[in-house]
Amino acid sequence: MPHHQDIADDADSKSTYECLVCGTIVKAESHPGGCSECDGEFQNRAMSLE
Ligand SMILES: [Zn+2]
Repeated sequence: MPHHQDIADDADSKSTYECLVCGTIVKAESHPGGCSECDGEFQNRAMSLE
């Protein structure tokens, strides 16, 4: 059986975004825009993994 669960709650409809500047992780259905911590830019993590 495949076994790869780290932060999979209801991560079906939501994508994970990571701030390129401070590394804050945000899950959202659409691009969150600017980081609330540092106003940096978010990158979609799921896309960079494949
Ligand atoms: Zn940030």
